[in-house]
Amino acid sequence: MRITIVSDNNGQNAGSPGPGQELETSWGFSCVVEVSGHRILFDTGSDGPMLVRNMRAVGVEPESIDMLVLSHEHWDHVGGIDELLASGARPTVYVPGSFSAGLRERLARDVPVVEVTGRTAVGSFASTTGEMGTEIIEQGLAVETGDGVAVVTGCAHPGIVEMVRVAADGRPIALVVGGFHLKDADERAIDQTISALDALGVRRVAPTHCTGELARVRFAAAFGDRYSGVGVGSILELGG
Ligand SMILES: [Zn+2]
Ligand SMILES: [Zn+2]
Repeated sequence: MRITIVSDNNGQNAGSPGPGQELETSWGFSCVVEVSGHRILFDTGSDGPMLVRNMRAVGVEPESIDMLVLSHEHWDHVGGIDELLASGARPTVYVPGSFSAGLRERLARDVPVVEVTGRTAVGSFASTTGEMGTEIIEQGLAVETGDGVAVVTGCAHPGIVEMVRVAADGRPIALVVGGFHLKDADERAIDQTISALDALGVRRVAPTHCTGELARVRFAAAFGDRYSGVGVGSILELGG
């Protein structure tokens, strides 16, 4: 199971694909999950042309994407859809059922759309949390790794701890990657989040996007070698 970050506001560092591959940054998040011979794209970032350039730079042709999971309807997560489809991608798209009718209808013109409300299987190797939250509705993704689940979040508006708890559904948690939405949180709130994720048994964290620098520094200190400092181009590999 491999996760490659293809759109992020944080630049390349740990685990980057190699010299000569200059990936671009912009506000937002998107990653490619490769599992059991399938490619799932999670979110599309804000900038479609950049997303497609970054995907190709790491060797992922848009046409090779089987499935697209959209976390929530914010521009920095769904902004790349048009360019992705224009570049030939024809994935089955999993959207929260509460997405605007306009966006759902726009997607349905080109691709199969699965409207998610409760927990929903994505192939036989992943599942979404179903719709979470009250104001900003969001879904997270849990991917089987053979070594616990990897949880992927877009912004985690409903709360990173609750999203991880629901995504894992009692299974061991090998990794949490994505936006933790702690950019406006104070040290006390950040440390409570760190303790709560640790108590859930989270083995590795790779917080990025809207996590914020203060939270990234505190996660790095608390998780030590179980922290991955990631940005666009970072690759996370897990067994199974
Ligand atoms: Zn975001
Ligand atoms: Zn958001």
